[in-house]
Amino acid sequence: MLCCPICQSPLSLDASRCACAGGHEFPVTDGVPNIMLRNTQTADHYSFQWGKELDFYKAIRESQGGILKATASSKLGWDDYLPTLLADARTVLDVACGYGGIADIVKRSGFSGSYLGFDINDTLADVKKERFAELDNFQFLRADMTDAIYAEAFDVAVCRSAIMYAPEPRKTFAAIAGAVRPGGHFAISAYTRKSPMRELCDDYFRDYFSRLPEREAFEALREFSLFGKILSDLNVQVEIPEDLPVLQIKKGVYDVQRLIYYHFLKCFWNPEWGFHNSTIVNFDWYHPEYSWRFPREEVAAWYEECGFDIVEYRVVPAQHFFCGRKRG
Ligand SMILES: [Zn+2]
Repeated sequence: MLCCPICQSPLSLDASRCACAGGHEFPVTDGVPNIMLRNTQTADHYSFQWGKELDFYKAIRESQGGILKATASSKLGWDDYLPTLLADARTVLDVACGYGGIADIVKRSGFSGSYLGFDINDTLADVKKERFAELDNFQFLRADMTDAIYAEAFDVAVCRSAIMYAPEPRKTFAAIAGAVRPGGHFAISAYTRKSPMRELCDDYFRDYFSRLPEREAFEALREFSLFGKILSDLNVQVEIPEDLPVLQIKKGVYDVQRLIYYHFLKCFWNPEWGFHNSTIVNFDWYHPEYSWRFPREEVAAWYEECGFDIVEYRVVPAQHFFCGRKRG
């Protein structure tokens, strides 16, 4: 399974006790062990984002799938692709499992092997209780993907939309890759790199917002939703008659809000989601301390360095998806 983050000896986990062979003991709350060694800005961010105060998961439930369908994760086709990897797998590691979106797919597939999901946010006891209480083969724990906790034990490892939050993504990728058995698969999705003005704005405003406490940042980011709404309400189309290679804008017809959104400033607005949920998207983008964006070649090089052949690549606006098979 996983290793002790302190001494790297094997960790035994169950619903009541979590200890390593080297004698380190970790707390267990409501059936969820916590092996985090330290708190981080990213942990505070995601505990707030997935917690009761913002209650984004409630909005997801109430939209009956509408919100999830609009996400990059849905457009990348995780729902269809992941079950193909599970067919021959007995063990799945879900790194940075968030609110349990991958766990839901694994559950729907009827997977009968062992699923282990971990995240830095403190809401996993609720995820487990509300959606996985009856499933003994689903285990959740609180852990930091950047700690030395990996042993070569899994047929499938997944890290959906999270590797960019690591301070050193290449190093974290290599560590997770070490958890995959030869012949096993490692699938990730991550942010793409965008046009230069947008990248500059992203860095500037992330530096600004990540220094603010969660609540304050969230309130301030309503402004970005409002700006998105103002542009969207204009309902104006802009024609770019030829490619603009320095600005990295392709010729075509754009809604003015989309043109600014993709090329200059992320200011998410979706009228069906409303202010609160649109602001969660802006908060998810600007507030975490680290949020790297990667060209395709960079991620492909990580797979190669770790001894994987890429067997699937997909791209949608803002994110791309990779799946590799470990050689040997
Ligand atoms: Zn230990």
